[in-house]
Amino acid sequence: MITLALSKGRIFDEVQPLLAAAGIAPLEEAESSRKLIIGTTDPGLRIVVVRASDVPTYVQYGAAELGVAGKDVLLEHGAQWGDRGLYQPVDLGVARCRLCVAVPIGFDYANAVRRGARLRVATKYVQTAREHFAAKGVHVDLIKLYGSMELAPLAGLADAIVDLVSSGATLKANNLIDVEEVAKISARLIVNQSALKVRREELMPFIARIEEASAAFSG
Ligand code: ATP
Ligand code: MG
Repeated sequence: MITLALSKGRIFDEVQPLLAAAGIAPLEEAESSRKLIIGTTDPGLRIVVVRASDVPTYVQYGAAELGVAGKDVLLEHGAQWGDRGLYQPVDLGVARCRLCVAVPIGFDYANAVRRGARLRVATKYVQTAREHFAAKGVHVDLIKLYGSMELAPLAGLADAIVDLVSSGATLKANNLIDVEEVAKISARLIVNQSALKVRREELMPFIARIEEASAAFSG
């Protein structure tokens, strides 16, 4: 049995059509089911439902051989190619967005950076943000949040945020604007490295089917 770690919400919604095209359908509605382990129409594959940020951990420790996680989650987890027992073979091309620095409309970010001002930045992505600003030589105090990052500048908690942006409508609704891209984001299929060696024959057909389906979708 192969186990695939998925999170409810956007990842599940956007990956489900890909899985369907690969001939894999969950036997229960993930969103409404209270079950955390869900069988699929393929008797060799089951889905475990975990928090988005826990997907790399399940795959890293081999509790799931496969997982789907956003690049944002992988960057924050520190999962580079070959690191931490994870292997990232496929960009699924779904759940696309950008990880960005955003500030209140009217805040002169470029000038603040030029002056060497120390910025207060609120984000869920503390590690990724730290690396981003360090590489640019921008001085920041990072404030860890778990959600609703857009509120932080409005409430006076921070000067800027680092958050996911798709259309920019949520930012705009909160009088914010993105001023810098940290990374382009999309969902990735990740694989436990040792499982890929030891159970290659079992895993490769799934990986190939999902890869084909995602190519058909983005192509
Ligand atoms: P949790 O519920 O565990 O706190 P979460 O709120 O980050 O996790 P989702 O909002 O479902 O969970 O996001 C899961 C993933 O979907 C993100 O890690 C990101 O890769 C992607 N994602 C999030 N927001 C967007 C968006 N606006 N457009 C496209 N992809 C997105
Ligand atoms: Mg969310």
